[in-house]
Amino acid sequence: MYWQQDIETLSRDRLEKLQLERLKATLDLAYNSPFYKKTMDENGISSDSIHSLDDLKKIPFTTKNDLREHYPYGMAAVPIKQCVRLHSSSGTTGNPTVVLHSQKDLDEWANQVARCMYMVGIRDTDVFQNTSGYGMFTGGLGFQYGAEKLGALTVPAAAGNTKRQIKFIRDFETTCLHIIPSYATRLAEVMYEEGVDPRKNTKLKIICIGAEPHSEEQRKRIEQLLGVKAYNCFGMSEMNGPGVAFECTEQNGLHIWEDYVIVEIIDPVTLKPVKDGELGELVLTTINREAMPLLRYRTRDLTRILPGNCPCGRTHKRIARFQGRSDDMIILKGVNLFPIQIETILMQFKELGSNYLITLETVGNSDEMLIEVELSDLFTDDYSVLQGLTKEIIRQLRDELLLTPRLKLVARGSLPVQEGKAIRVKDLRKII
Ligand SMILES: [Zn+2]
Repeated sequence: MYWQQDIETLSRDRLEKLQLERLKATLDLAYNSPFYKKTMDENGISSDSIHSLDDLKKIPFTTKNDLREHYPYGMAAVPIKQCVRLHSSSGTTGNPTVVLHSQKDLDEWANQVARCMYMVGIRDTDVFQNTSGYGMFTGGLGFQYGAEKLGALTVPAAAGNTKRQIKFIRDFETTCLHIIPSYATRLAEVMYEEGVDPRKNTKLKIICIGAEPHSEEQRKRIEQLLGVKAYNCFGMSEMNGPGVAFECTEQNGLHIWEDYVIVEIIDPVTLKPVKDGELGELVLTTINREAMPLLRYRTRDLTRILPGNCPCGRTHKRIARFQGRSDDMIILKGVNLFPIQIETILMQFKELGSNYLITLETVGNSDEMLIEVELSDLFTDDYSVLQGLTKEIIRQLRDELLLTPRLKLVARGSLPVQEGKAIRVKDLRKII
């Protein structure tokens, strides 16, 4: 049940000892990059100033902005000649971020992804279809190399073209998928429309869902629709991509591989560490990457450490599913909330479909929230029943959000669908 039993079940003492060794080596390496040379010199830090993992706090944070300002090669810790791949973010605002990889980095990354996939039961006898975009998006090549390393027959189907995806799933007898959660429900809907029952007419059994925050309720829905087990995966391009953290078969938190990264959770305002179990911003330090180490990188992702040991026997810490990025937080009428809180409520109603859209708009002098959600197929068009349902959903939303949104139940298929990441929030507010 383990890809690398020795490392996955290493005692905490030995794991932390390994982290300290690797942290010191990483600092020596990072000093070769123009950015970290300057930071370390200014703060009087070298590997000699690190005596325990607690000394990590002496090192300043690294932010996305630092990556942008040192675009493209200012973070490189090895000569560019030694790098064999570059991934870059889309950079819709300002310079994109660049991550460089040596061959060793790519081998380690593939191992990390293979470890995750093995953990959820994927084996070399499986057919793994990857519906991620390829190219610069790390979900493509990241899963491709991981699945190949594992030995699965890997189908780089890439994103979109739902009918072709279904044909591949049937013809190639695909057993495992990597897919964005909103697209998984879309894929299931199209299957049913085409008369394909995923339980009877496909061999699907395991899917890896990630790249978009989603609620437990949405996961359950995907599992039910496709007749599979769905596992939550987390990655980010600055930390290579997929493989950073992944659920085990317990489906209770994501193991984060601490032989690859050191995990901290901080209060995003005071920047002080929060207690285990408290929500905060995830900060990661790479300790097994050579071309471009990152020290105390502020991910902007909000999560918490789950206390206690996992029954699966792995000793690496578990983090909770993501609330969203601190950038996704909606501030409406002074209330802070996340789209995933709304999704959690909506998905509890079997009368509702999986597609919804939140619009923030200015009405008169005040900001309002409109939630449009599609009805499921099963449901009635009886006006009084719909009215009762609307009332009940609003009541539950109000209890969760502490404000009252407007709610519109719409017919199935009337909201826009994306084959990539779903757009869940439209902000049309005017600044008054
Ligand atoms: Zn576990």
